[in-house]
Amino acid sequence: MEIYDKIISFVRGQFEEPEAFIPLHEPRFIGKEKEYVTEVIDSTFVSYVGPYVSKFEEQIAQNVGSRFAVATNSGTSALHIALLSAGVGPNDEVITQPLTFVATVNAIRYINASPVFVDVDRDTLGLSPEKLKEFLEAECEIKNGTTFNKKTGRKITACMPVHTFGFPCRIDSINETCDEYNIVVVEDAAESLGSYYKNKHTGTFGKIGAFSFNGNKTITCGGGGMVVTDDEETAKLAKHLTTTAKVQHPWEYVHDMVGYNYRMPNLNAAVACAQLEKLADFVDNKRELAKNYIEFFADLPVDFIEENDDSKSNYWLMALIFESLDQRNDFLKFSNDRKVMTRPIWKLMNKLGPFKNFQTSDLSNSEWFEQRVVNIPSSVRLNDSWRR
Ligand SMILES: *Cc1c(COP(=O)(O)O)cnc(C)c1O
Repeated sequence: MEIYDKIISFVRGQFEEPEAFIPLHEPRFIGKEKEYVTEVIDSTFVSYVGPYVSKFEEQIAQNVGSRFAVATNSGTSALHIALLSAGVGPNDEVITQPLTFVATVNAIRYINASPVFVDVDRDTLGLSPEKLKEFLEAECEIKNGTTFNKKTGRKITACMPVHTFGFPCRIDSINETCDEYNIVVVEDAAESLGSYYKNKHTGTFGKIGAFSFNGNKTITCGGGGMVVTDDEETAKLAKHLTTTAKVQHPWEYVHDMVGYNYRMPNLNAAVACAQLEKLADFVDNKRELAKNYIEFFADLPVDFIEENDDSKSNYWLMALIFESLDQRNDFLKFSNDRKVMTRPIWKLMNKLGPFKNFQTSDLSNSEWFEQRVVNIPSSVRLNDSWRR
């Protein structure tokens, strides 16, 4: 317990909070949020029409280096639309990792497609290109350019790796393997705005990527998401699907597909634009906190998860690895009792009721993480050097 005490004091020291509750990740509104929101309210264009939505789309595209961006009302809807725009249909299969937030797999199920769970790497927490290759070689066959799962007979249309906690996965190798099998790569980059793999922004490696601006993410607009792609047709389809599939016309209501009301309101986009102006500062601030944690945990028998040399992580949620499930549980109780919020990594998706009957391969790394990983306070800090 002495070491847990040490950890708690250190965390409190980082946030300059000797007593108060310390949340896992709280938003910071220290920019032009109020100014932009007031402008939107005064204009009365609070909903889907208004300049901030297109402005935010253009700015995200520019920031991450993609040709197109389509704003949505959540990260989950962005994933749903990304899969649909990538051509995933009912009864198809989508390869993904079991170590993720539930939205990844929900999006697959919204289409009535099935997830197939492949393991993650120990050093990235993201989908393992080696395990992916092993699965495809052992379990699948290519017929007329399409990959089929031999066990289920179903078509494997897409692969959806996740950049877990903001740590980039080996997305270039995943791309390479998926190319060989004609499988479309859809990146769940919900947690990784501001993260780079080999100097290229996460979410821009696959055919299409999705980000989230939920309240607990690195930047937020209350709720929101973004689909990014370099492919013009895919971008057009994504925009069409998110906007009720309405055919452009000055007054007639014609809809040529079953579309969705997934648009980001102008009010939220105003907040999002103000937040994006702070992204670089937020990421710097979080990386500084990560550096402090790294130095602190270097001398302790608990591992702090670090980025790899080929990556730059936004350190969205920082995480510890304990030696055992018991230790993990002890620390969760100890820290939460002392009002320092910590929480375990997600239960694996293949163990949840709605997804437990889908195919899995060897998931030993995911299971290893599930027993040991705890997230610790990771918010942008408001210390003196920052309060400019
Ligand atoms: C947050 C998150 C999402 C979903 O985003 P929402 O905006 O909450 O709908 C999807 N995938 C992952 C991995 C996430 O962390």
